[in-house]
Amino acid sequence: MPFTPLHMGPGLLLRGSVRGGFSLMVFGWTQILMDLEPLYGILTDREQLHGWSHTWIGATLIALLATLTGKYLGAWGLRLLKLTQFLPITWGAALAGALLGGWSHILLDSIMHFDIQPLRPFSLENGLRQWISLPALHLFCLGAAALGAVVFFWRNGNPFRVGE
Ligand SMILES: [Zn+2]
Repeated sequence: MPFTPLHMGPGLLLRGSVRGGFSLMVFGWTQILMDLEPLYGILTDREQLHGWSHTWIGATLIALLATLTGKYLGAWGLRLLKLTQFLPITWGAALAGALLGGWSHILLDSIMHFDIQPLRPFSLENGLRQWISLPALHLFCLGAAALGAVVFFWRNGNPFRVGE
């Protein structure tokens, strides 16, 4: 949970690369929904923080929920940020952002958390644990964010500029 923002790195890179077919707003919304369970676990002192939400099945269900709610929340967020050039968020872009958000979340968390069982209920194993070292994982996320930002600004210009 404390590293939820790190999940945005690969999202930025994806968004920079594929343009309109993918909603970064819905991707981000999915990250928040994914980590509600660990947040609740931290607040209530639970032993296993990464339960059903951090399984491939759970992430897919959360992604569907994120698609249904994120299409509208994302549009509202874009209007709030005055980034209306990225509207509308199509159902396809919302679904792509949510599914890639949920699945990349499982992939990254599987490497870093000891209590995650992504294949539940079929297996309690986690073959991805420490597949790469933690510093390498964090570096990858930050690197992806930096590279994604560069590609994004290169393709879209500065979307925050005013008065034009
Ligand atoms: Zn997580």
